[in-house]
Amino acid sequence: MPDIINLLPDNIANQIAAGEVIQRPASAVKELLENAVDAGATEIKLIITDAGKQLIQVIDNGKGMSETDARMAFERHATSKIKNINDLFSIRTMGFRGEALASIAAVAQVEIKTKRAEDNLATYIEIENSEVLKQEPCAAPNGTSISMKNLFFNVPARRNFLKSNSIETKHIIEEFIRVSMAFPSLFFSLTSNGQQVFHLESGSLKQRVIAILGSYYTSKLVQVQEETDYLNINGFVGKPETAKKSRGDQYLFVNNRFIKSGYLNHAITTAFDSLLPKDSFASYVLFIELNPEQVDVNVHPTKQEIKFEDERLVYAFVQSAVKHALAQFSIAPSLDFTLNADIQQLDAINKPITAETKEALSHTNIYKTFTQQHQAHAIEPSHQKAELKEWKSFYQSALDQATPEALPNQTPFRFNPNLQEEVTPLLALHQLHQTYILVTKGKDILLVHQQLAHERVLYEKYVTNSNSQKPTTQKSLFPTTIELSVADAVLMEDLLPEFAAIGFDIEHFGGNSFIIQGTPADVLQGNEKHSIDLLLEQFKFFNSDFKFSKREKLIRCLAKQHAIKDGTPLSRLEMQTLVDALFNCTITNATASGLPTFIEFKEDYLNKLFGR
Ligand code: ADP
Ligand code: MG
Repeated sequence: MPDIINLLPDNIANQIAAGEVIQRPASAVKELLENAVDAGATEIKLIITDAGKQLIQVIDNGKGMSETDARMAFERHATSKIKNINDLFSIRTMGFRGEALASIAAVAQVEIKTKRAEDNLATYIEIENSEVLKQEPCAAPNGTSISMKNLFFNVPARRNFLKSNSIETKHIIEEFIRVSMAFPSLFFSLTSNGQQVFHLESGSLKQRVIAILGSYYTSKLVQVQEETDYLNINGFVGKPETAKKSRGDQYLFVNNRFIKSGYLNHAITTAFDSLLPKDSFASYVLFIELNPEQVDVNVHPTKQEIKFEDERLVYAFVQSAVKHALAQFSIAPSLDFTLNADIQQLDAINKPITAETKEALSHTNIYKTFTQQHQAHAIEPSHQKAELKEWKSFYQSALDQATPEALPNQTPFRFNPNLQEEVTPLLALHQLHQTYILVTKGKDILLVHQQLAHERVLYEKYVTNSNSQKPTTQKSLFPTTIELSVADAVLMEDLLPEFAAIGFDIEHFGGNSFIIQGTPADVLQGNEKHSIDLLLEQFKFFNSDFKFSKREKLIRCLAKQHAIKDGTPLSRLEMQTLVDALFNCTITNATASGLPTFIEFKEDYLNKLFGR
């Protein structure tokens, strides 16, 4: 038998390794933007075509590379950012593994032009399949321009795996936002298919947040800022009314690196306490800074997860900082809050924490002070608690007002006489808890859930409408213009045909503006903007579900949105209309997402319960 082990050729080894770093256009965008930031650029321009599938280009005015470095940069493990293993623990740059450029060169056609201020000429290099095709001097401004074309041109299986342009663009925008949010003092722009999508002038963090998330946030940001020797936190949380149905606007950074942390998200969310409406997500942009030695860097940089040396301390700190900020905003401004001083005195803060010091400290008062008493909720006198409650009811009533009233006799349900045999005689209808309708049907009893039942009814109605040649639309008396955030505008643009199919008449008005000319009949006049905001929100919430078409998702969202809510009193006629309409549906016993619309208690079953 011959020996069977081969060494993989470099380009194949590189392609395989590249899979770890570059999964999709957005991963390349992240790496290139981070390199530009690391290079000290003050202006960074991102250009993409075809959702980055055709072209991703990043142009920066950073420090550039020498000819040799430019050539070296594409080798695996080539980095200027660490020299020895100890550097790894104090890393302050975004990159350090020296894998990104090598990976990109393995799976795309790459061109780089780079020039240092001290050199007369720039270096031009063309590289594909990890092989240098051309290298020559050229003229170029200081800085670096890298363009990568036809991502995965040599790995068709991966290329086919890429999602639609709208989804890949969405991912790119996400990465662009994560980097540009973290460096407000740098200029960033994003141009997609020749159209400028973002133009972010250098400015304060607040300006950057508003430029990215939309001017809606202008008066809705609460500043969070605490500084200690151990860690600093600064940034903004959105006032409770900015809470969303999806995790839309949640940005958490550690040492300027975007991270996802369910643990810290919990700290932030619970800091809001009862201020947040149920099932909604707080909006926040928060930056935690701490000594890099307190953070585990061995976690893979593309995974966005992070390990802290002392997670509990970071949790308590983040939570109290947010509470403090919220307390200042919604309660007495003169609150006596001495978080800083106490934390500063902690040994745990001044010195690196060891297991022994931690154990010793946990018994001292000062540690307890920090972890318990100095969280804002613990120092609220009772009258402040009361104000909190008022706040909540204020919020609730605002929410109620905003909820579109769905039922009032607008829905022309007709009782289908053919079905009479099945659903009649309806002897009595009672509403319970303003949520259920108790229906007696012969000797059986049905408990109908009003909201879920109505959701089923509307769902079928919208499906029918969207299947018709010309969906019915109610023209708005006063066409409304809506201004969306950049990301939402991109989504909206993509969804316009689907919106049209379900009865919305919306036109792109240029930039991020859209004009609403008409809506489905259930949308109340004057409520168009709210309805669309909510639809986009809910759509994003369901968006990761690839089982359904965009239209199906929109229809489901619309049905959910317009179903009469629990807690709405119904007249007899309304109950009757709803129950009739439900039993007129093709499927009667469940919503589109599979929740039961009613529960049936058969006579037999009831008898059995009573031992008869
Ligand atoms: P890493 O960022 O982990 O060091 P990369 O593969 O991303 O690895 O980059 C390799 C090296 O190339 C970097 O360490 C840096 O020295 C150089 N480099 C990459 N991009 C740029 C850029 N835009 N400007 C200047 N130097 C760069
Ligand atoms: Mg890098």
